[in-house]
Amino acid sequence: MRLARFGPVGAERPCLVDGQGRRFDASAVVRDWDAQALAAPPRIDLAGLPPVPESARWASPVPRPGKVVCIGLNYADHAAESGMPIPAEPIVFLKAPRTVIGPYDQVRIPRGSAKTDWEVELAVVIGREASYLASREQAAAHIAGYCICNDISERHWQLERGGQWDKGKNFDTFCPLGPWLATADELPALGSLAMQLSVNGQRMQQGSTATMIFDPLFVVHYLSQCMTLEPGDVITTGTPPGVGLGHKPPRFLAPGDVMELSITGLGVQRQVCTAA
Ligand code: ZN
Repeated sequence: MRLARFGPVGAERPCLVDGQGRRFDASAVVRDWDAQALAAPPRIDLAGLPPVPESARWASPVPRPGKVVCIGLNYADHAAESGMPIPAEPIVFLKAPRTVIGPYDQVRIPRGSAKTDWEVELAVVIGREASYLASREQAAAHIAGYCICNDISERHWQLERGGQWDKGKNFDTFCPLGPWLATADELPALGSLAMQLSVNGQRMQQGSTATMIFDPLFVVHYLSQCMTLEPGDVITTGTPPGVGLGHKPPRFLAPGDVMELSITGLGVQRQVCTAA
C-alpha cells in the first residue's frame, strides 16, 4: 500500500495512492495515519473510495512525528566525498518535528544563509513501538514503511558554529517527506533503490541504497538500544554523494531554486526555495 495525506496545513486527511499516482480519500475509513493505523494498517479497497482532486496539496504522509532521527555519513561513497572515514557505528542526530513539511511545499532559505544544501534520503517510518529489540531481524515487524526525505542542511550553522550538527539541521521546512509512505511489500529491492536529486534541472545527486553502510533493519535495531522508537517516528538513513558541499567549488541553494528528488518506488518530490 501507498499511504499519503492531503489538504491544507492543519486540516490534512489520509488517502491511498494507486499505481498511477492517483489519490483516494480514506478519511471515511481511517481517522489519520496515526500510531494506531500505522501499527496495523487497515486493508482498504481503493474502488470504494472517492478520488482526491489533483489540485489538493500533498502533505507529509505521516502527521507531525514524535521525533526525526537522522543517520549521518551512512553511504560509503558520500563519506569518501566528505573526506571522512567510514563510521564504525551509526552517527546519530535529530531533526525537530517542526521541520517536517509536504513533498511539494516551499523550502525557506534561512535569513543570511549562503550555505543551504540538499540531501536525498530513504526515510523509515516506525509502525510499532520498538525498545531493546533482540535482533536485526526483529526490526522488520516495527517498520510501517518507507518514503523520501530531503534532509536539508545549513552547512555554516552545521559545521562552522561549534558543537554538534543539530543547529544546521533544524530550520523550519528542512524536512520535506513524501509524497507517499510505501509499505515494505512495495519495495522488494530495498537494497538497490536508485536515488536522484536535481537542482534547476541539473542532476546533483545520483546514488543507490546499495552503498548504504548501516541498512534500515540494522539502524532500527541499533537505535532501539538507546531510545524507544514510537509509531510515526521517522528515521532518515543518510545521503549518497553529490551534496552541494561535495561539489568543487561547493554549490548551495538560493531563493527561486527548484529541487527535484526521486527514489525507486517512492515517487518524486519537488520544492521551490524561498527566503525566510
Ligand atoms: Zn542527512
